[in-house]
Amino acid sequence: MVIFLIEQREYAYSELESYLQTLASKYTFLQLTKQGRTIGGRPIYIVKLGNGSQNVLYTGGFHGSERLTVLSLIMFLEELCEALVRNQYYSISNARSALKGKTLYFIPCVNPDGYEIARAGVQTAGEFAERIEEILDNNDYKYWNANLNGIDINHNFNAGFEQLKELERADGIFGPSPRRYGGISPESEIETQILTSLCREISFNKVLAMHSQGEEIYWQFGENTPESGLRLAELFATASGYRVAEPSGTASYGGFKDWFIDEFARPGFTIEIGKGENPLPPSTLYAIYERLKELFLISFAI
Ligand SMILES: [Zn+2]
Repeated sequence: MVIFLIEQREYAYSELESYLQTLASKYTFLQLTKQGRTIGGRPIYIVKLGNGSQNVLYTGGFHGSERLTVLSLIMFLEELCEALVRNQYYSISNARSALKGKTLYFIPCVNPDGYEIARAGVQTAGEFAERIEEILDNNDYKYWNANLNGIDINHNFNAGFEQLKELERADGIFGPSPRRYGGISPESEIETQILTSLCREISFNKVLAMHSQGEEIYWQFGENTPESGLRLAELFATASGYRVAEPSGTASYGGFKDWFIDEFARPGFTIEIGKGENPLPPSTLYAIYERLKELFLISFAI
């Protein structure tokens, strides 16, 4: 059994950076690199594990108020590394056997500037603080989901962008906003570009985008959705007790998994972790992670 270093509390982004560096020096087979920098100057990290030909990408922290997505991916990474070192099981499989032939990539926090605003307020935005204050328009910083430009990264991908803009306008969103504004054009944001260029460079067999909350699994986008998407979503649901979400009339557009499916016709998933109101309390992290462990295993082992 692994004793987790990560505690059930809020972490400043700078602490997470140190945490990732600690993991990379403890588990020397990990490759930790900076994939780029936000306009707030914060590095966006990518961690690579394994050297197989099948690639899986895990992403979290798209939305500032969804910080447990970041922590649960780091827990997954840490526990898997420990199981590899000790030649033990991760969930229901031997970790080394499960990882054979696979390479896992983790971008635990896609939107670190938004993560910091929602965690600790506008002063974390530095020279952009005044602008963030204006965009907030007296709303609580705790529910901030966008980046420093007031653009929601998970609405900034080129997947049904025109439909997305129509829905925005219907919701009264016409410009930079704490949440759900997709910007003037897709891929306008550095955070979005980091993901799209990575996916164009590395052939991912599947991608997982962690969000919160709702205990739901989204797997579908348009006619390029592969049949294996539903099959995997059903396995994920059985493993976690989460629900396979059915597409509804107000289907979402412009998200990372939407774009990935549309562009590559391979399975992409949005996993809505936990249940309650965002931001979910850090005290629920371990319980949420326990529900996700077998889902995480399946996501790369099969
Ligand atoms: Zn989200």
